[in-house]
This record gives sequence, C-alpha cells and structure tokens, in this order.
Amino acid sequence: MHPHNPAPHGSPAGYSQGCRTRAMCLHGEGSEFLSCAEAAIRRRGDYRLSRLPAHQPLPRHVLAEPATPSDPAVREVHGTPWGYARGCRDTRACPNWARGGMTCPEARRRYMQTYTARRSAGTGTPIEHGTSNGYLLGCRNPATCPGDRTGLTCTDARSHYRQQLARAAGIAPRTESIDARAAATRIRELRALGLSLRHISTLTGTGRTTIAQLTGEGKTVRTRITPTTLDRILAIDVTTLTTSGMLTDAHERTQALAS
Ligand SMILES: [Zn+2]
Ligand SMILES: [Zn+2]
Ligand SMILES: [Zn+2]
Repeated sequence: MHPHNPAPHGSPAGYSQGCRTRAMCLHGEGSEFLSCAEAAIRRRGDYRLSRLPAHQPLPRHVLAEPATPSDPAVREVHGTPWGYARGCRDTRACPNWARGGMTCPEARRRYMQTYTARRSAGTGTPIEHGTSNGYLLGCRNPATCPGDRTGLTCTDARSHYRQQLARAAGIAPRTESIDARAAATRIRELRALGLSLRHISTLTGTGRTTIAQLTGEGKTVRTRITPTTLDRILAIDVTTLTTSGMLTDAHERTQALAS
C-alpha cells in the first residue's frame, strides 16, 4: 500500500488522519468493522493487532486467530511470505486483510526486513530458519517457524538431517512422513510457470496423483510426504528453469517421452 493513500475507515490510521468521532466515521456499532476511533484504541491494547499496518481496518469481532478458509491448502498459505510468492500480492485482496490478520504482502515485507537486517548486521547468532541448527537453537514448532524462502521449517530440516545420519550409519530409513509445505510451494511455482501436472511428475519422478494432492488440485489434499519425495521436488530449481531456457527444453523432452 502506498503510504500517501488515504487510510480506510475502520483503521487506526483513519483516526490519525482526522476521523475522531463515531459520527464522522463510516463504521458504527452495527458495522462489520470498528470505527476509526475504536480501532485506534483497540490496536493500542492488543499486541497482535499492533503488529498490523495502521491503515488496515479492524473487524469488530476479532477472533483469537483470524478466521481461515476451510481448504487447508489455502489456509496454510495466506499471511506468509510464500503466499506472496504464490501470487497474493495485493494487500487488500488477501483474505486476511478484512479479518484483522497479517496479509501476505505484509508478511513478505517483514520477512525481507528481517532477512536484510540479519545480513547487514552480520553479528550475533540469529536463527537461520529452515535449518537443523535452527531447530537446535530452539525453533521447534513448525507452526511458528517462518521457514526458509521455500517454506521449509526447522523441524523439517531436523528430521531430514536425522534421516541422512541414519542412512549414513546404514540404518534402514523408516518411511517417516514430514510436512509437505515446502514441496507444495515449489510445485505451485512450477504450475504458475505453466508446467502441467504430468510434466512436473516426470521432472520429479513423483506420481501425478501425489503432485495434484500437493497443489490442492486433487480430490484430496496431501500435507505429509516422505523425505525422499521432498528431496526430489526441491531438487527442481525454479530459477534455473526460467532463466536458462530449460523450461522449454524440459517441456520438449517431456513431449518426446510422451510420444
Ligand atoms: Zn472513520
Ligand atoms: Zn494472502
Ligand atoms: Zn525456524
């Protein structure tokens, strides 16, 4: 959002910009959103709301956690940097905007801010999320870990690492399933580039049904996969595909295989 745009009614910034009384405000007691004055007060007393941008209108009935769509594939994406990467780039179009929740563009902004600050500071021992080390430094809840740029959490990285150790030690790997979020994100990126489910299936050596379940295009949604499948999917480098023209080559190869 451009900072010079007038703040919408129902937001703390609306109050700062002069909407001081209930009579002036578009939103009253019966409306979905608070009046600007009420929003300004509510935001001051609520840590979660205070983290939202001041120009975001606040719903009258704020749930402990913002309401989420019933489709889990959608639920886990909004309010995250990878929701943004997936195409949710308009602050007001993100479903979390009207729910008093963190929007995808805001989550992305914060993520980049932290990332840049960490890099320029170059001091201390900031947790590098999406690593086994992050897990050891205390990031053990996959629900709160911001993950790395692909959405891989510290918990995932840790179980990955343990699997590798076990394999190296000659222990037959258990068919343990892990969080599929990072894989789902990668596949959605590939889909956004125009790759078909069959093409992705060929590139990753993973069944087409599994691919469809990960993107939410199947009859059911899959949230867990084996570490091997995760490895195969993450091995597809989206940047290389788009910049090297391999996208076309790979596509032709698939066509050749299919014919
Ligand atoms: Zn107002
Ligand atoms: Zn969103
Ligand atoms: Zn973490």
